[in-house]
Amino acid sequence: MTDYQQKVSGSFNERMRLIRLRRKKENLRFWDEFRIVPRGLIWTVVGLFLAAQGIAFFVNRWLFFHDPGGMFAPDLRDTPVWSYLALAGAVTAVSLVMASFIFLIGYVNRDAKRRGMNSALWTLLVIVLLPAWTFVGFLIYFLMREPMPYDCPQCGKSVGARFNFCPNCKCNLHPSCPNCKREVVETDKFCPYCAHELGAVTSGELSQS
Ligand SMILES: [Zn+2]
Ligand SMILES: [Zn+2]
Repeated sequence: MTDYQQKVSGSFNERMRLIRLRRKKENLRFWDEFRIVPRGLIWTVVGLFLAAQGIAFFVNRWLFFHDPGGMFAPDLRDTPVWSYLALAGAVTAVSLVMASFIFLIGYVNRDAKRRGMNSALWTLLVIVLLPAWTFVGFLIYFLMREPMPYDCPQCGKSVGARFNFCPNCKCNLHPSCPNCKREVVETDKFCPYCAHELGAVTSGELSQS
């Protein structure tokens, strides 16, 4: 490995460490995240689910009276109650899969907006990839999404994840060790690379990278 390569991979590792810290600070919980899915979308899905259950039930019931041979599940035709229950179960299973896709699309739409990304474009991408590639669109989104804006460690104002300095208080958001010049995070008391004492990093006294 040449000096240059070592330096590039070194700074990459430092950056990854910082991104990991930011991601950890995001502290995403499933139900909190689910709450950003638009309410209207959730109720629409619930309504569609109930409608599907109703239609399936009445079609099956109509067949029971007019054409019992066409009832749901050939094995269950002799016991109508089981036929109704099995059909309700099948409708529920299909609905759960479809609902999770719809909610994921709604989530991507809101989450992209929250992270300052192009939400219309990302929503379109996951929808376009859905029929042929199912989860691949979502996978790309979750790997590519920007970190969320976070609070400045010094003044508490919200700052973008790509900012180098806080626009409000000039706090250095990418502090580096004054001794070895490698990037450290604001919670470090000592430099993880050379053990230099960092003191209060949040004071903004450290040299910039
Ligand atoms: Zn600040
Ligand atoms: Zn150091």
